[in-house]
Amino acid sequence: MNSKFLRSLVCLALLGGAAAHAQEYPTKTITMVVPFAAGGPTDTVARLVAQSMGVKLKQQIIVENVGGAGGTIGAARVAKSAPDGYTLFLHHIGQSTAPALYRKLTYNAIDSFEPIGLVTDVPMTLVARKDFPAKDFKELLAYVKANKDKVTYANAGLGSASHLCGMLFMTAIETDLTTVPYKGTGPAMNDLLGGQVDIMCDQTTNTTGQIKAGKVKAYGVTTKTRVASLPDVPTLNEAGLPGFEVAVWHGMYAPQGTPKAIIDTLSGALQVALKDPMVKQRFADLGTEPVAESRAKPEALKAHLKAEVDKWAPIIKKAGAYAD
Ligand code: ASP
Repeated sequence: MNSKFLRSLVCLALLGGAAAHAQEYPTKTITMVVPFAAGGPTDTVARLVAQSMGVKLKQQIIVENVGGAGGTIGAARVAKSAPDGYTLFLHHIGQSTAPALYRKLTYNAIDSFEPIGLVTDVPMTLVARKDFPAKDFKELLAYVKANKDKVTYANAGLGSASHLCGMLFMTAIETDLTTVPYKGTGPAMNDLLGGQVDIMCDQTTNTTGQIKAGKVKAYGVTTKTRVASLPDVPTLNEAGLPGFEVAVWHGMYAPQGTPKAIIDTLSGALQVALKDPMVKQRFADLGTEPVAESRAKPEALKAHLKAEVDKWAPIIKKAGAYAD
């Protein structure tokens, strides 16, 4: 047998093995890391999607919360995980802001991950504790400016969406507030409900229920148009901050090196989950909707992430925000 023929045989055997492996995937429980505390908005999105993808994949997907440092601790964990399809990652816009905000990341936000697809774009809301002494945005502005040394702003750490929204808000109103960082806005919301912290800007997936129950005051949504599930809440644009706009996109990833066949299987399951009536209904109740199928794909997330990294770097540089 000549050596070229032998090499071809070995290649064919290896390819056959890889294909069989991908067909078998998944054979055990999958873990989806969320880089924020349980009970918050990223966690909510992840749990809904994980549940539905698990049905399609016939394996359970459990969510593991690895909060801290604006999502970068969870991201670092996933970047070092085995690229075998059993560790997934659901993160938001923070994946694109971290490279500019953190000088010492142990991973590369683009190269250390295999994109699976975009998941959803979620509006944010500016909310305050129930007894905050301002009935609308105009009063909020006057109060915050007059009491800037004592008003506290909750966020989920540098690079979180709540940090980003707060940074844009404080820049727009030219007032710096004391920020109180949490491992996620789930626990931050608990403190807002308890009156330990004053205001926060967070995804509708965390605030809608509390706004509707009258447990927090809402002053505005961060999108250009009002949110269907919160028709009485004005946009911040209307309320007095022209041009204010931020929506929190969410993407799903696996560690770099995860085989393409597995990524394709996961992306297919994500696309099915985003059409699941249960997911669509829950998303709608929480002020959001799944992305179109064409965006729930690896190439779409890859291009989006890259564009967002490029978009935020100069904004963050200008704001002078960073962590060592
Ligand atoms: N909403 C949070 C943020 O500000 C994160 C979370 O707890 O999901 O980024």
